[in-house]
Amino acid sequence: MAEYDYDLFVIGAGSGGVRASRVAASHGAKVAVAEEHRIGGTCVIRGCVPKKLLVYGSHFAEELQDAANYGWTVEGMKFDWNVLRDTVLRDVARIEGAYTQTLDSNNVDHFLERATIMGPHAVRLANGREISAKYILVATGAWPVMPEFEGSEHCITSNEVFHLPELPKRVVIQGAGYIAMEFAGIFNALGSHVTVVNRSEAILRSYDQSLRDRLLQITMARGIEYKFHCPLTKVEKQADGSFLATPGKLEPLKADVVLIATGRSPKTAGLGLENAGIELGPKGEIPVDDYSKTACDSIYAVGDVTDRIQLTPVAIREGHAFADTVFGGNKRNTVYDCVPSAVFSQPPLAAVGLTEGQARNKYGNIKVFSSDFRPMKNVFAERHERGLYKLVVDANTDKILGIHMIGPEAPEILQAAAIAVRAGLTKADFDATVALHPSMAEELVLMR
Ligand code: NDP
Repeated sequence: MAEYDYDLFVIGAGSGGVRASRVAASHGAKVAVAEEHRIGGTCVIRGCVPKKLLVYGSHFAEELQDAANYGWTVEGMKFDWNVLRDTVLRDVARIEGAYTQTLDSNNVDHFLERATIMGPHAVRLANGREISAKYILVATGAWPVMPEFEGSEHCITSNEVFHLPELPKRVVIQGAGYIAMEFAGIFNALGSHVTVVNRSEAILRSYDQSLRDRLLQITMARGIEYKFHCPLTKVEKQADGSFLATPGKLEPLKADVVLIATGRSPKTAGLGLENAGIELGPKGEIPVDDYSKTACDSIYAVGDVTDRIQLTPVAIREGHAFADTVFGGNKRNTVYDCVPSAVFSQPPLAAVGLTEGQARNKYGNIKVFSSDFRPMKNVFAERHERGLYKLVVDANTDKILGIHMIGPEAPEILQAAAIAVRAGLTKADFDATVALHPSMAEELVLMR
């Protein structure tokens, strides 16, 4: 008889957990995964996927507006939130089905209930069943943080925003990070009045200053209002179902929806980690080594719950590397250098490598090249918004240290450019590359 019920028991069927399960199974492991919500996790169910579809949906507003100069007459234009919402939710269910099929076709057992760690090799399902496993992988992700203030129970988070019964006329968004800026763009494009309130004056703190300044300027021109240095202190429900949201000491703002987007913290509450001697880190994360192993030799953790980089592709890589290391005889870790990222704001921004400030701190002697241009499509549509691309270069070696872009399709362009940064190419390599004309991406090789 086998010593354990499973070789691997995974808690959480999100991006990291599903990848680890599938790859471990393909290496011959007997695998089970428990998921208390829906298979697919944050990215598929209430994150990247439905968000991107809403971005696509909202982008038609701009396209339709700009269509006139291209000769199109669009009569009777009207938007129906319910159609977009329901189509998005249907697609989410489709992808959830595909993920479930992946688990099935790899013979991964799945339990749609909560699992708690009972010891280094034991978990207990919500129905009381105890299961033993040689290894346990925690991939429970992260959960929105709700700051404490009077009336916070009236606010929603990114978990609920995809299910709104109607398009809100007035939206107040607390936070100015990824989620806030993406939903500010979506609601603004769909015609809602959007106010972003934040505790500091920084939007998208981790991005290059010049991109952030450009995004602020463009989104303000598009009608998004900002209130800085005044996080919400109170939200009151009105008789008509709307809200009065008070930022700091300012006048209350009228809102139909108050969305809180103030970060996501590792989802570890009630997991039973203490039963295996695992202590949490200062942000509530599970501390792990380079190979995603926790303080307990048989328990590993990947993805947002470890609070390394909270991005889906990173969780997937960590899950894959874990499965190869533990079950595939191929010990390897995840490399966190040059991880590209993007904010699907409107316009979007994307970046890889060091910002100008980070590069100055680390290398001292750097060169910065930039291209501040009006995309051809915008010129023709009489849209005055300008794109901005920036290359940060090590002055001693000519190596590209960072690429920063804001403008239409920036994430699509940046993904390819990130390969060059990862490969350690130089500014001279960019200069030697012939431009692809006419495109926005050609700006990358034309900066002198
Ligand atoms: P972010 O960390 O991006 O931004 C948090 C924002 O909330 C900041 O503006 C911060 O202000 C503010 N804030 C933080 N704590 C508090 C508090 N206690 N009270 C008031 N304000 C506060 O978090 P998000 O929730 O937007 O996103 C969570 C993570 O999800 C991101 O970090 C990212 O990793 C991931 N994500 C990635 C996306 C993508 O790849 N496109 C899209 C969506 C999410 P300040 O900066 O002033 O401190």
